[in-house]
Amino acid sequence: MGSSSLSSFTDSYCVIGDLSWTLPGMHDPHSDCGKMLESGAENRCNRLICSECFSRVLKKQAYRIYKRITKSTLDNSDFRHIIFSPPQDWAIERIKTECGFKYFRRRATEIIKQAGIESAVLFFHPWRLTERLKSLFEEYFEAESEDKNIWKDLVIERTIEFSEISIRISPHIHILGTGFLKRADIFEERTSWVYRNLGDLKYSLKNRIRYNLNHVGLALDGGGGSIFNSYTYIGDLKRRGAEYEEE
Ligand SMILES: [Zn+2]
Repeated sequence: MGSSSLSSFTDSYCVIGDLSWTLPGMHDPHSDCGKMLESGAENRCNRLICSECFSRVLKKQAYRIYKRITKSTLDNSDFRHIIFSPPQDWAIERIKTECGFKYFRRRATEIIKQAGIESAVLFFHPWRLTERLKSLFEEYFEAESEDKNIWKDLVIERTIEFSEISIRISPHIHILGTGFLKRADIFEERTSWVYRNLGDLKYSLKNRIRYNLNHVGLALDGGGGSIFNSYTYIGDLKRRGAEYEEE
Protein backbone atom coordinates (compact mmCIF):
# COMPACT_ATOMS: atom_id res chain seq x y z
CA MET A 1 0.00 0.00 0.00
CA GLY A 2 1.37 3.40 -0.98
CA SER A 3 1.60 6.18 1.54
CA SER A 4 -0.93 8.23 -0.42
CA SER A 5 -3.70 5.82 0.59
CA LEU A 6 -2.56 5.82 4.19
CA SER A 7 -5.08 8.31 5.46
CA SER A 8 -7.72 10.80 4.47
CA PHE A 9 -8.48 14.07 6.22
CA THR A 10 -11.76 15.84 6.74
CA ASP A 11 -11.70 19.20 8.51
CA SER A 12 -12.31 17.54 11.87
CA TYR A 13 -10.88 14.02 11.78
CA CYS A 14 -8.54 11.77 9.85
CA VAL A 15 -9.40 8.25 8.75
CA ILE A 16 -6.53 5.81 9.32
CA GLY A 17 -7.57 2.25 8.48
CA ASP A 18 -10.79 1.44 10.38
CA LEU A 19 -10.39 4.27 12.88
CA SER A 20 -11.15 7.98 12.70
CA TRP A 21 -8.59 9.91 14.72
CA THR A 22 -9.17 13.43 15.90
CA LEU A 23 -8.03 16.02 18.45
CA PRO A 24 -9.77 17.66 21.44
CA GLY A 25 -12.58 20.05 20.54
CA MET A 26 -12.88 19.03 16.87
CA HIS A 27 -16.34 17.48 17.08
CA ASP A 28 -19.78 19.11 16.93
CA PRO A 29 -21.42 19.78 20.30
CA HIS A 30 -24.76 18.27 21.33
CA SER A 31 -27.65 20.67 20.80
CA ASP A 32 -27.84 21.52 24.51
CA CYS A 33 -24.10 21.95 25.21
CA GLY A 34 -23.48 25.32 26.85
CA LYS A 35 -27.22 25.97 27.41
CA MET A 36 -28.30 27.26 30.80
CA LEU A 37 -29.91 24.72 33.12
CA GLU A 38 -32.69 25.60 35.58
CA SER A 39 -30.11 25.42 38.36
CA GLY A 40 -28.23 28.26 36.68
CA ALA A 41 -25.33 26.01 35.69
CA GLU A 42 -24.45 25.38 32.06
CA ASN A 43 -25.16 22.03 30.51
CA ARG A 44 -21.94 20.22 29.62
CA CYS A 45 -21.46 16.90 27.84
CA ASN A 46 -18.02 16.30 29.34
CA ARG A 47 -16.60 14.99 26.08
CA LEU A 48 -13.05 15.96 25.21
CA ILE A 49 -13.98 15.96 21.51
CA CYS A 50 -16.83 18.50 21.95
CA SER A 51 -16.00 21.92 20.47
CA GLU A 52 -18.22 23.62 23.05
CA CYS A 53 -17.11 21.73 26.19
CA PHE A 54 -13.54 20.56 25.56
CA SER A 55 -11.66 23.39 27.25
CA ARG A 56 -13.40 22.63 30.56
CA VAL A 57 -12.78 18.91 30.13
CA LEU A 58 -9.10 19.62 29.39
CA LYS A 59 -8.83 21.67 32.58
CA LYS A 60 -10.59 19.04 34.63
CA GLN A 61 -8.48 16.16 33.31
CA ALA A 62 -5.25 18.16 33.65
CA TYR A 63 -6.12 18.96 37.25
CA ARG A 64 -6.81 15.30 38.05
CA ILE A 65 -3.44 14.27 36.63
CA TYR A 66 -1.69 17.09 38.48
CA LYS A 67 -3.32 16.09 41.72
CA ARG A 68 -2.45 12.44 41.27
CA ILE A 69 1.21 13.25 40.67
CA THR A 70 1.61 15.85 43.38
CA LYS A 71 -0.27 13.85 46.01
CA SER A 72 1.67 10.66 45.30
CA THR A 73 4.63 9.70 47.44
CA LEU A 74 6.85 10.06 44.36
CA ASP A 75 9.37 12.88 44.35
CA ASN A 76 8.01 15.38 41.82
CA SER A 77 11.43 16.87 41.24
CA ASP A 78 12.50 13.51 39.74
CA PHE A 79 9.86 13.71 37.04
CA ARG A 80 11.02 14.04 33.45
CA HIS A 81 9.24 14.82 30.20
CA ILE A 82 10.24 12.17 27.66
CA ILE A 83 9.06 11.38 24.12
CA PHE A 84 9.04 7.72 23.06
CA SER A 85 8.86 7.06 19.31
CA PRO A 86 8.14 3.54 18.02
CA PRO A 87 9.20 2.16 14.63
CA GLN A 88 6.80 4.16 12.45
CA ASP A 89 5.56 1.53 9.97
CA TRP A 90 4.81 -0.82 12.83
CA ALA A 91 2.98 1.86 14.82
CA ILE A 92 0.89 3.11 11.89
CA GLU A 93 -0.33 -0.44 11.25
CA ARG A 94 -1.37 -0.72 14.92
CA ILE A 95 -3.39 2.50 15.05
CA LYS A 96 -5.68 1.38 12.22
CA THR A 97 -7.92 -0.80 14.40
CA GLU A 98 -9.28 -0.79 17.94
CA CYS A 99 -7.61 -4.10 18.69
CA GLY A 100 -4.37 -2.94 17.15
CA PHE A 101 -4.28 0.23 19.20
CA LYS A 102 -4.96 -1.66 22.43
CA TYR A 103 -1.97 -3.84 21.59
CA PHE A 104 0.08 -0.74 20.72
CA ARG A 105 -0.65 0.73 24.15
CA ARG A 106 0.19 -2.48 26.00
CA ARG A 107 3.42 -2.83 24.06
CA ALA A 108 4.30 0.83 24.61
CA THR A 109 3.80 0.38 28.35
CA GLU A 110 6.20 -2.59 28.39
CA ILE A 111 8.78 -0.75 26.30
CA ILE A 112 8.62 2.38 28.46
CA LYS A 113 9.17 0.23 31.56
CA GLN A 114 12.09 -1.46 29.79
CA ALA A 115 13.62 1.99 29.33
CA GLY A 116 13.67 2.28 33.10
CA ILE A 117 10.53 4.34 33.73
CA GLU A 118 8.81 3.18 36.91
CA SER A 119 5.86 5.54 37.23
CA ALA A 120 4.35 7.84 34.65
CA VAL A 121 1.37 9.33 32.91
CA LEU A 122 1.29 8.56 29.18
CA PHE A 123 -0.22 10.64 26.35
CA PHE A 124 -0.62 9.26 22.84
CA HIS A 125 -0.03 11.68 19.95
CA PRO A 126 -0.82 10.38 16.44
CA TRP A 127 0.58 13.43 14.65
CA ARG A 128 3.55 15.75 14.44
CA LEU A 129 3.52 19.24 12.93
CA THR A 130 4.70 19.35 9.33
CA GLU A 131 7.99 21.07 8.52
CA ARG A 132 6.04 23.23 6.11
CA LEU A 133 3.80 24.59 8.87
CA LYS A 134 6.75 25.19 11.17
CA SER A 135 8.63 27.09 8.49
CA LEU A 136 5.54 29.16 7.63
CA PHE A 137 5.25 30.06 11.27
CA GLU A 138 8.87 31.05 11.51
CA GLU A 139 8.53 33.22 8.43
CA TYR A 140 5.43 34.88 9.74
CA PHE A 141 6.76 35.61 13.19
CA GLU A 142 10.38 36.02 12.06
CA ALA A 143 11.49 33.97 14.98
CA GLU A 144 11.79 30.36 15.95
CA SER A 145 8.32 29.22 16.93
CA GLU A 146 7.73 26.71 19.63
CA ASP A 147 5.65 23.65 18.80
CA LYS A 148 3.57 24.26 21.88
CA ASN A 149 2.30 27.60 20.56
CA ILE A 150 1.46 26.11 17.19
CA TRP A 151 -0.53 23.26 18.75
CA LYS A 152 -2.41 25.80 20.80
CA ASP A 153 -3.37 27.69 17.64
CA LEU A 154 -4.40 24.48 15.93
CA VAL A 155 -6.47 22.94 18.71
CA ILE A 156 -7.51 25.68 21.13
CA GLU A 157 -7.73 28.77 18.92
CA ARG A 158 -8.52 26.88 15.69
CA THR A 159 -6.62 29.49 13.68
CA ILE A 160 -4.69 26.75 11.85
CA GLU A 161 -6.65 24.22 9.83
CA PHE A 162 -6.67 20.55 10.66
CA SER A 163 -5.25 19.06 7.46
CA GLU A 164 -2.25 17.31 5.96
CA ILE A 165 -0.70 20.71 5.36
CA SER A 166 -0.47 21.23 9.12
CA ILE A 167 0.08 17.76 10.53
CA ARG A 168 1.46 14.40 9.44
CA ILE A 169 0.86 10.96 10.90
CA SER A 170 3.72 10.11 13.21
CA PRO A 171 2.58 8.09 16.25
CA HIS A 172 4.52 8.66 19.47
CA ILE A 173 4.00 8.83 23.22
CA HIS A 174 4.82 11.62 25.62
CA ILE A 175 5.36 10.69 29.22
CA LEU A 176 5.76 12.63 32.42
CA GLY A 177 7.42 10.14 34.69
CA THR A 178 10.15 8.99 36.97
CA GLY A 179 12.73 6.17 37.05
CA PHE A 180 16.30 5.44 36.05
CA LEU A 181 16.59 5.78 32.29
CA LYS A 182 18.71 3.27 30.41
CA ARG A 183 21.18 4.63 27.91
CA ALA A 184 19.34 5.73 24.76
CA ASP A 185 21.62 3.85 22.33
CA ILE A 186 21.32 0.54 24.19
CA PHE A 187 17.57 1.00 24.54
CA GLU A 188 17.22 1.67 20.81
CA GLU A 189 19.34 -1.30 19.85
CA ARG A 190 17.22 -3.64 21.98
CA THR A 191 13.75 -2.31 21.20
CA SER A 192 13.97 -0.27 17.95
CA TRP A 193 12.16 2.49 19.85
CA VAL A 194 13.80 5.89 20.37
CA TYR A 195 13.41 8.21 23.30
CA ARG A 196 14.19 11.89 23.72
CA ASN A 197 14.51 13.31 27.21
CA LEU A 198 13.16 16.86 27.35
CA GLY A 199 14.38 17.26 30.91
CA ASP A 200 12.91 17.96 34.30
CA LEU A 201 9.69 19.81 34.90
CA LYS A 202 9.65 20.93 38.48
CA TYR A 203 8.61 24.46 37.58
CA SER A 204 6.10 23.61 34.91
CA LEU A 205 4.30 20.37 35.73
CA LYS A 206 0.89 21.98 35.14
CA ASN A 207 1.95 23.41 31.78
CA ARG A 208 3.46 20.15 30.62
CA ILE A 209 0.30 18.26 31.49
CA ARG A 210 -1.86 20.78 29.61
CA TYR A 211 0.47 20.81 26.61
CA ASN A 212 0.46 17.03 26.30
CA LEU A 213 -3.28 16.77 26.80
CA ASN A 214 -4.32 19.52 24.40
CA HIS A 215 -3.31 17.59 21.28
CA VAL A 216 -3.82 14.05 22.50
CA GLY A 217 -5.11 11.59 19.88
CA LEU A 218 -8.75 10.55 20.21
CA ALA A 219 -10.43 7.82 18.14
CA LEU A 220 -14.12 8.40 17.40
CA ASP A 221 -16.53 5.64 18.41
CA GLY A 222 -19.28 6.50 15.92
CA GLY A 223 -21.67 7.55 18.67
CA GLY A 224 -20.20 10.97 19.40
CA GLY A 225 -17.65 9.76 21.94
CA SER A 226 -14.08 8.54 21.88
CA ILE A 227 -13.02 4.91 22.22
CA PHE A 228 -9.87 5.17 24.31
CA ASN A 229 -8.84 7.10 27.40
CA SER A 230 -7.01 10.31 26.63
CA TYR A 231 -4.18 9.28 28.98
CA THR A 232 -3.04 6.24 30.95
CA TYR A 233 -0.79 5.58 33.94
CA ILE A 234 1.93 3.09 34.76
CA GLY A 235 3.55 2.04 38.02
CA ASP A 236 2.63 3.57 41.35
CA LEU A 237 0.46 6.23 39.71
CA LYS A 238 -1.66 3.43 38.24
CA ARG A 239 -1.72 1.13 41.26
CA ARG A 240 -2.46 3.70 43.93
CA GLY A 241 -3.78 6.48 41.77
CA ALA A 242 -7.40 6.53 42.85
CA GLU A 243 -6.31 7.19 46.46
CA TYR A 244 -4.40 10.27 45.30
CA GLU A 245 -7.40 11.75 43.57
CA GLU A 246 -9.58 11.69 46.68
CA GLU A 247 -10.03 14.99 48.42
ZN1 LIG B 1 -20.45 19.36 24.80
